[in-house]
Amino acid sequence: MTTAVKVALAAVLALVFVGAMVKSRTARADGDAADAAMATIRPEAIRADMRFLADDLLEGRGTATRGHEIAAKFMAAQFEQMGLEPAGDNGTYFQSVPFRSGRPDQEKSTLTLVRGGKEQKLVYRRDFITGANPGAADSYVEAPVVFVGDGVTAPEQGYDDYKGIDARGKIVALAFEAPHFESSLKAHYSSFEVKQANAVAHGAVGIILISDPILEGIYPYSMQTRDLVFPQFRWLDKQGKPNDYFPELKGGAVLSMAETKKLFEGSGHTAEEVFADIKAGTPKSFALPVTAKIHNVTKLEDVRSPNVVAKLEGSDPNLKSEYVVYTAHSDHLGIGEPVNGDKIYNGALDNASGSALLVEIARAFTKRNPRPRRSLLFVSVTGEEAGLLGSDYFAHYPTVAKDAIVANVNMDEDDMLWPLEDIIAFGAEHSSLDAVVRKAAERVHLGVSPDPMPEEVVFIRSDQYSFVKQGIPAVFPVGGFTSGDPKIHPAEIFKKWEKERYHEPGDDMQQPGLLFDEAAKYGRFVFLFGDLIADDPQRPLWNKGDFFGDRYGKKKG
Ligand SMILES: [Zn+2]
Repeated sequence: MTTAVKVALAAVLALVFVGAMVKSRTARADGDAADAAMATIRPEAIRADMRFLADDLLEGRGTATRGHEIAAKFMAAQFEQMGLEPAGDNGTYFQSVPFRSGRPDQEKSTLTLVRGGKEQKLVYRRDFITGANPGAADSYVEAPVVFVGDGVTAPEQGYDDYKGIDARGKIVALAFEAPHFESSLKAHYSSFEVKQANAVAHGAVGIILISDPILEGIYPYSMQTRDLVFPQFRWLDKQGKPNDYFPELKGGAVLSMAETKKLFEGSGHTAEEVFADIKAGTPKSFALPVTAKIHNVTKLEDVRSPNVVAKLEGSDPNLKSEYVVYTAHSDHLGIGEPVNGDKIYNGALDNASGSALLVEIARAFTKRNPRPRRSLLFVSVTGEEAGLLGSDYFAHYPTVAKDAIVANVNMDEDDMLWPLEDIIAFGAEHSSLDAVVRKAAERVHLGVSPDPMPEEVVFIRSDQYSFVKQGIPAVFPVGGFTSGDPKIHPAEIFKKWEKERYHEPGDDMQQPGLLFDEAAKYGRFVFLFGDLIADDPQRPLWNKGDFFGDRYGKKKG
């Protein structure tokens, strides 16, 4: 070998070294930039934002109420103050969502069951309740009833509750659950919209939701009845049609536990047998010796409520045209039935916490130098409690090109009630985001744990699901239940909170045990997770053959 070669070789080596140095320097520089920025997320800032948003003066931030308008103005003012660009309608921070608000008329709505020619008129609230029909103020249906188990048809799972049953022109009675599929699939098939579409596909003309022990454990009939005080909403599309509306279903009702047990009399199956089959994931479908007459009367009103949308432009000339979308809902239940004299449902954890984190994570990104490569959108959505409506409207009508949205990171109800040691990343397992979750968690010394409560179907119960349904990989990270301290039992703390304060006036800033340092720690993880997505040369991809990627992935663009 002559020197030239050596020199050349040395030169190449030097280049590689420099390249590596540059790469590691940029990686380290990016890492440092991210680390420096996320270190600015302060517990007291989160607490202050929550204290404002959860104050009684905002009256529980019900969708399309004055209290929620104030919350939306607060979010927009924060985004403007920190220098984010408006990315709503017409150069503003606001995307105005048109809603149809409905309240079932509890006086005029009726349900009558006919057995062997004998009529039984049920009593509203005691025996049954009805939902608001967003498309018709007055609708009536009378038809024989068939029981269709969970009302699920999942061909890719070889499962069909409608097999061997003729539901054409019938009213279908069904349960809330879904069979024992993988956690997110179970969640998907337990969605009431999916069950309604399936009932229509089988020719049904009405739906009766039965009560059963599992549903009683998640959303008891007594709470469903209490929640009638809150209006029910649908967003309106450009033709003024309500979303997820099935005009073929002319009547709907929910039965109390006592009436559910009576419904199966004379069918050859006891309610206990039916409940056991549902629990086992193998419900049977059969005709019932009953005809139902359902009269739904609904008070309807068209209203508007805003999403708030702000943008941080990315630093990369090409990738800045793509977006990572952070979401958190700003609405809560509003004013409802008083509990111990308190009728304001403040929604401190649900979701003043996520809204505060959205503000403080955005603020931290404005301090990141350099900025991430892709652009970021911070979207404070309305109408979540009413059915993920603000996020669904945004995902249908985004204020940027839909196929430029590469991922959604959603925050809802940060359970800052125990020391954070791990993350459960709902939805991550369906796309390349799973690896990013693990990378971010490792960087902030957190573990990653699987879904500990598939029966709660969390994957479909917050705004990330609206993006999944538009083919956008989305993750909902929450604090896990791992605890290195034998005296602290996160799962018990969560269950107790869920039982005593979830969707209760007691979810306020006076509740004990709020750990804002842990909220900031969670915020740093969520910051870093989005930062890594925004900086990754490769945009997130659905996993090959993934149920959601196959079902919705092609919907994009
Ligand atoms: Zn929530």
